[in-house]
Amino acid sequence: MSALVDLRSDTVTRPTAGMRAAMAAAPLGDDVFGDDPSVKALQAAVAERLGFEAALFLPSGTQSNLVALMSHCERGDEYIVGQQQHCYRWEAGGAAVLGSIQPQPLTQQPDGSLLLADIEAAIKPDDPHFARTRLLCLENTIGGQVLDPVYVRETQALVRRHGLSLHLDGARLFNAAAAPSGEVLANARAICAGFDSVSVCFSKGLGAPVGSVLCGSAAFIGRARRWRKMCGGAMRQAGLLAAAAQYALDHHLERLREDHARAQRLAAGLQGLPGLAVQMPQTNIVFADVAPERGAGLIPFLKERGVLATGLYRLRFVTHLDVDEAGVDRAIAAVRAYFSEA
Ligand SMILES: *Cc1c(COP(=O)(O)O)cnc(C)c1O
Repeated sequence: MSALVDLRSDTVTRPTAGMRAAMAAAPLGDDVFGDDPSVKALQAAVAERLGFEAALFLPSGTQSNLVALMSHCERGDEYIVGQQQHCYRWEAGGAAVLGSIQPQPLTQQPDGSLLLADIEAAIKPDDPHFARTRLLCLENTIGGQVLDPVYVRETQALVRRHGLSLHLDGARLFNAAAAPSGEVLANARAICAGFDSVSVCFSKGLGAPVGSVLCGSAAFIGRARRWRKMCGGAMRQAGLLAAAAQYALDHHLERLREDHARAQRLAAGLQGLPGLAVQMPQTNIVFADVAPERGAGLIPFLKERGVLATGLYRLRFVTHLDVDEAGVDRAIAAVRAYFSEA
């Protein structure tokens, strides 16, 4: 059988030949001394293209979010965040454990938004009984969904009236930017507008092996550099990795639409099966709810046929640059075969 069709996540991609060549050719230095030209070039390019003063290269999105929270908030401050957001739910409680920052999680609406009334009610008055509400974090895309830009503007206006700062977890920013028509980079810049800081992952749909970039003001990035050091995230000849991210920035933005088209193809191909309820995707993530009695056997059945996915009753299929149309069709055929068996 040919290679696996790995739909578990868009983090499973291997660097392309072009990306490996860019990595091999990258000029290097010791980035802890500020000497690595490839890291400096990447940081300058991301900051400039997304409309920020400065940027910082970090090993992971988790560390980038943590360092962002620690750069916005002091001990005893609080950040407002959705229950389902990565920087609350999926990062091992780092902000509370390492930052002494209190999370104030709010229930997420089905479209990924937080109700403005819930946000307003969670902002605490200046009173020694309360943590100091300092920051709101949003995530875009969230669960593969693009936040409504009107909602984002209204939310920004609300929290600005209360003097809060705004962080965007844009791990999949460029997927959000590739969902509407228009140039992906211009869309990404518009999505970042009004935020004080944005974190972007290069190791997901963009196809780099490692790395995230945090953007903000020069003063904010200065604080972030110190926290990155304390969190063990300063790297030496990191230009090898920065060159991969730079290659992705230069070559892999517009092609995200191919991943989105394949996710559409996958979802369409899975429609109409009894026992499977498929949601049409906005970006590169397809969710499908499996009837309880059919849940347990599906993932092992797919694996035997060379198709990897995650979930039990809620399946997740993620398209990325190592999944072609034939792979999508194989995944569709394997799922259909499972549901046609009694
Ligand atoms: C994956 C992800 C992260 C963390 O990235 P890692 O590089 O895996 O640490 C943060 N936020 C969101 C929304 C993510 O999807």
